[in-house]
Amino acid sequence: MAQPMVVSKSPKSVSALHEGDAETQALVGLGEFSTQELYRELLGRFHEDPDRDGLLATPSRVEKSMAFLTKGYEQNPTQILRGALFEVDYDEMVIVKDIEMFSLCEHHMLPFWGRVHVAYIPNGKVIGLSKIPRLIDVFARRLQVQERLTRQVADAIQEAIEPRGVGVVIEARHMCMMMRGVEKQQSTTVTSAMVGCFREQPTRGEFLSLVRQSGGSSL
Ligand SMILES: [Zn+2]
Repeated sequence: MAQPMVVSKSPKSVSALHEGDAETQALVGLGEFSTQELYRELLGRFHEDPDRDGLLATPSRVEKSMAFLTKGYEQNPTQILRGALFEVDYDEMVIVKDIEMFSLCEHHMLPFWGRVHVAYIPNGKVIGLSKIPRLIDVFARRLQVQERLTRQVADAIQEAIEPRGVGVVIEARHMCMMMRGVEKQQSTTVTSAMVGCFREQPTRGEFLSLVRQSGGSSL
């Protein structure tokens, strides 16, 4: 059983132990505690009793869950796509719609989730279709803002196969808007990133109209 922590009253003791600026001191001080001990401390600060039955295993569950939800930091898109790039003689638009996406907003560490639509026009190479959802997960399983996630997916595809152009649209709902703050429960945030020929009509328009035909799209 973990011992009660003293992190909450540590500014004095930490500065006594470590030289250097305040930020470094805090990090060094907290570094002595395990992730589970830190979550246990947080539960106490939320006015909970970390020793009651229902919460005993919570720090360990949260640690595992957060490790999964942020595992994208340890993955890289080049590795994911290795072995999944194919030479083709095809120059029409490739579109993959309604890919499920779950991420955490970096401002509140609350979920945002929705659907991603990806299209590109090949220039000699395509990506194996099953790899596109995995590519999205590499970036979605990090702390994110929707705009950056959209851009990173587009840039990774551009870099991997250098197509004539790429378009990515993400439609998502943000728990931080729905559960707190403005409490706008029905609002969907739509972001897009267009590269190459997707910046121009008619390609851009063709892509957006194909996306609009998807079931329940709010575009
Ligand atoms: Zn947020």
